[in-house]
Amino acid sequence: MPFRYQTLPVTTFHQNCSIVWCDETREAAVIDPGGEIDRLLAFAEAEGLALKQIWLTHAHIDHAGGTGQLARERGLPITGPHEGDRFWIDGLPQQSRMFGFPPAETFEPDRWLVDGDTVTVGRCTLQVRHCPGHTPGHVVFFEPTSRRAFVGDVLFAGSIGRTDFPQGDFDQLIGSITQRLWPMGDDVTFIPGHGDESTFGEERRSNPYVRGT
Ligand SMILES: [Zn+2]
Ligand SMILES: [Zn+2]
Repeated sequence: MPFRYQTLPVTTFHQNCSIVWCDETREAAVIDPGGEIDRLLAFAEAEGLALKQIWLTHAHIDHAGGTGQLARERGLPITGPHEGDRFWIDGLPQQSRMFGFPPAETFEPDRWLVDGDTVTVGRCTLQVRHCPGHTPGHVVFFEPTSRRAFVGDVLFAGSIGRTDFPQGDFDQLIGSITQRLWPMGDDVTFIPGHGDESTFGEERRSNPYVRGT
């Protein structure tokens, strides 16, 4: 099982950026480079990884803010999110001003994702599920052999994503969690966009927003 990952919290929002890689080819992708690009590149270099791709769960500033710069400087293709988040990408400069972030560049993804797609780094393939509700174009990445899901701001340990942003939808978010995350299995460990890892089974038992679903 060649899949590996390391989570590095970035930005003042402590967003869980994850570097994922294939241990056989040492090729890596970075999920949600919200900022602190130098730290992410330093980690990849220290591990001897060849950073090849950028994958995005959604286009909020803390997740996507460093994407344009990283893609431009390293010539990396951008995959995701779903096209429903185009307005959030176009609004990145405004988001950076509003939240006091360093200036963020807009960008055009090389590939928009839809439900059922896959993404591949080295010999590792992850499944893509479209999970709208927090943002309309939010996607998650699931690696079935290691039983790991990178879920962005859909689900947290003990909580769920905010739905009070433009085009956020509470019922849609609950539907994404129960119909697209839970079928992956109670044993799946998820890496949320903020805070500690947990398992879907634990959230189904104890998370007040989705307990018993
Ligand atoms: Zn978000
Ligand atoms: Zn976030």
